[in-house]
Amino acid sequence: MTRPITLVTGGSRGIGAATSLRLARDGHDVALSYVRDKDAAQRTAEAVIAAGARCVVLRGDTSQEADVERMFDSVQEQLGPLTGLVNNAGVTGPFGPLAEARTEDLRRIVDVNVLGVLLCCRRAARDMAQTGGAVVNVSSAAATLGSPGDYVHYAASKAAVDTLTVGLSKELGPAGIRVNAVAPGIIDTEIHATGGDPDRAERMAGGVPLRRAGQAEEIAAAIAWLLSADASYTTGTVLRVAGGR
Ligand code: NAP
Repeated sequence: MTRPITLVTGGSRGIGAATSLRLARDGHDVALSYVRDKDAAQRTAEAVIAAGARCVVLRGDTSQEADVERMFDSVQEQLGPLTGLVNNAGVTGPFGPLAEARTEDLRRIVDVNVLGVLLCCRRAARDMAQTGGAVVNVSSAAATLGSPGDYVHYAASKAAVDTLTVGLSKELGPAGIRVNAVAPGIIDTEIHATGGDPDRAERMAGGVPLRRAGQAEEIAAAIAWLLSADASYTTGTVLRVAGGR
């Protein structure tokens, strides 16, 4: 049987790295992308290869059209026709109320979290048009919570991801392309430190109904299921994996 070939954007660290490894264990060949942290990308690739998968590491900023096109071309050349896409690359920017946010941070969030997902989805729609495939977008529970005081701009960008997931699933369903999203809650990754609040996951754990932050592997499991044959009749859904939040 041919192995699925899946691109995980932002596969170097956090949820993307856990997803890359999980997919390798599930029998996928994996292309993982990064934008800055080459060492982390290489470490994840080594783990993916050790799990028995073929793996390519690609540098590319998902908010840049030329980078996205080059990444998809490289997957095709090095691994073969793409069957799966995980739009995981995302940024929060500094935490704080909208009144204090800088325009450049707002723009970056929209560029990476919305435009980047659209550019990758567009290319996947073209590449998978004849063969079918599956796309999983990584949204956030913030999309429905709104995240006042933290990052309403980030929450809004993830609500856009939910909406494009629903619309695209209807647009691409007839071509045999399933499109779903996973909406994680508070997950223990470096994204909180990058946003300027390294203790955020630990501090907020008490307010989660399950009384803890989630682990990246718990999000990877949901993504892997949505990409699998077990989810063959599932499309247009946003699967919340947020400990009850
Ligand atoms: P993370 O640990 O900060 O990792 C982010 C990943 O995205 C890294 O691999 C990073 O690459 C990559 N990346 C960032 N900007 C990129 C760009 N412009 N182009 C390509 N790659 C880029 O984040 P995470 O917590 O795993 O988050 C992954 C996704 O889950 C994001 O979409 C985030 O919004 C979402 N999410 C996270 C949480 C949470 O609590 N952690 C909750 C809800 C949703 P480098 O290694 O090169 O920097």
